Amino acid sequence: MTTKHPNVKKLLDWFQTNQRNLPWRKTKDIYHIWASEVMLQQTQVTTVIPYYKRFLERFPTVGRLARGSEQEVLKLWEGMGYYSRIRNFHRAARQVMTVYDGKIPDTPETFQKLPGVGPYIAAAVLSIALDIPLPAVDGNVMRVYTRFHGIADDIRKNTTRDRIFNELKGIIPTEPPGAAGDFTQAFMELGALICTPQKPRCDACPFHEQCIAFTTNTIDRYPFKSPAGKVPEYKVSIGIIIKEAKFYIQKRPSEGHLGGLWEFPGGKAAAGESPEQTLFRECKEELGCEVEILQPLPLVRHAYSHFKIQMSPFICQLKHGDIHPQENRPFRWITISELDIYPFPGANHKFFPRLKEYFTDFFARNKNPGCFTV
Ligand code: SF4
Repeated sequence: MTTKHPNVKKLLDWFQTNQRNLPWRKTKDIYHIWASEVMLQQTQVTTVIPYYKRFLERFPTVGRLARGSEQEVLKLWEGMGYYSRIRNFHRAARQVMTVYDGKIPDTPETFQKLPGVGPYIAAAVLSIALDIPLPAVDGNVMRVYTRFHGIADDIRKNTTRDRIFNELKGIIPTEPPGAAGDFTQAFMELGALICTPQKPRCDACPFHEQCIAFTTNTIDRYPFKSPAGKVPEYKVSIGIIIKEAKFYIQKRPSEGHLGGLWEFPGGKAAAGESPEQTLFRECKEELGCEVEILQPLPLVRHAYSHFKIQMSPFICQLKHGDIHPQENRPFRWITISELDIYPFPGANHKFFPRLKEYFTDFFARNKNPGCFTV
């Protein structure tokens, strides 16, 4: 297939004139494009741009990323969420160095063997960086395509994604050079700028005369997405346990939700428990210590992809004795000024300003912070 296909030509012409000036469009470096695609999953372009620049300044090559420490990498990612993306990217960089001798694999089969590289990332990166004609089917592409063709299939289903992939594979251009990558980006760009989820700008769309959804006035029917199950909400209590003007933090296990980030001790409420009771029980179970509350901080609400939390943070101190950290679980006693060195989950950042105020007030009241009493 070439760009002579009338709709492909129309799409690429529209892209040439209307594409945004984005930093990852100025390069064909496969590592840089890979980094941008990892960041752009589930994250807005405007959020990604500063992260992309900072990340590549610090890790300009796959080798430099492979040599970075987990903490350094997570810190640069902090705030973007979906931390498994960066952990996998980091692991993949290390595999590129150890298994592939520093050369990023350049076929769909080999590239997809790397951690975190699924069909979407493989298609996006290989088509944009290397011009391999593989269609990348993301939410933007599915929205444009189902509206254009009036496809009412459920986009949550893999069969719908596969259908769109196969149909696009038949039209993705293989020449002239660069056309496959432009096709991938053009489709995504049309979805991001014109065929938006709400109020698409059909008057500015190059396809409005042919589009089934537009010409039959049925845009609100596409794409069809079956309702998601109800997202559970958990009540959580955490303790900022202070001792001699420092407080205790511990590292989450590398695998799993928020893996490798730092956190405060605490956990989910059991049935019928108050936030204070949860805190006391969790501290006892997790650290073998008894605490007393110095000050509760305001409730934090936070949404993750599959659940929400209502978090009650408490500044507290040991009643007696000491903390007994869990075996094989790294921990630190840190000062408030060291807080920014460590990567924490986004929910914690919501109470950090209040925590910093608390310490500022404390130091203003106490001349001798080495003796922390209230
Ligand atoms: S005409 Fe409107 S609904 Fe159809 S593809 Fe273009 S922007 Fe989307």
